[in-house]
Amino acid sequence: MSTRLSTGHSKTEIIAIANQKGGVGKTTTTINLATALVAARKKVLLVDMDPQGNASTGLGSERSNRDKSIYQILMGEITLEEAVVSSIIPGLSLVPSTIDLAGAELELVAEDQRTFRLRKALQHPIIDQFDYILIDCPPSLSLLTLNSLAAAHSVIVPLQCEFFALEGLSLLLRTIETVKCNFNPALEIKGVVLTMFDGRNNLSGQVAGDVRGYLGSKVFKTVIPRNIRVSEAPSHGQPVLLYDYKCTGSQAYISLAREVLRRETTKAA
Ligand code: ADP
Ligand code: MG
Repeated sequence: MSTRLSTGHSKTEIIAIANQKGGVGKTTTTINLATALVAARKKVLLVDMDPQGNASTGLGSERSNRDKSIYQILMGEITLEEAVVSSIIPGLSLVPSTIDLAGAELELVAEDQRTFRLRKALQHPIIDQFDYILIDCPPSLSLLTLNSLAAAHSVIVPLQCEFFALEGLSLLLRTIETVKCNFNPALEIKGVVLTMFDGRNNLSGQVAGDVRGYLGSKVFKTVIPRNIRVSEAPSHGQPVLLYDYKCTGSQAYISLAREVLRRETTKAA
């Protein structure tokens, strides 16, 4: 049975960063959580599963340099190891994505085990070199997101404090349940992180309160504030922690990393 596939090795924790909504801070959280974990002396691999490739660009990877990418891995053309490159941050490695990935969905439709392509690819000894593997998911509940959730030990959900946040969240939680039932019974919700929080906006506070009331301790204590430095950093091809270490956004991601390090996940296969 496909659900018996192992999720890799015990030391390495694989975390998917997912939310089907675009623009909620998935990529920003993946890049900066990865960088903050590296600052805490962890070895981290970021896998870019979004055809837009924003995480790759945000880590300084040039589009012209991405001849080996996650697309070829999912298509079974190369191994994970062949596509791992170093990033501008020592200790942070990257599997970049290219726009080819947008076609993977259709190309895999008729393939056997199409939901487990990433999980299989991550069963490579190179993952032993990393403490954490963070997967940046695309803004959809597509086959690419399902592959990510099927490959992960846990999932972190970035949630923007806005009006329809809770509706989107319940759809995502249902999807996670479906993935657990069908593909990955051991999948855990590591936590929900409130992003782009604006303390001057009453709605932000109200939504944050509702989410905490609904999910309790599953919501990280750390809240990521809306901070201009966070949005400027990607255009410099840098995580905000490198661009401006002292700004409120960087400090929030450092605090989030501390919480992530404290939250143990059972890595049952
Ligand atoms: P997603 O990956 O979910 O689509 P992104 O991480 O790309 O979302 O974020 C969407 C936009 O919001 C980007 O332009 C990003 O720079 C910006 N952004 C993300 N987090 C913050 C923040 N804390 N403060 C200000 N801007 C942010
Ligand atoms: Mg993104």
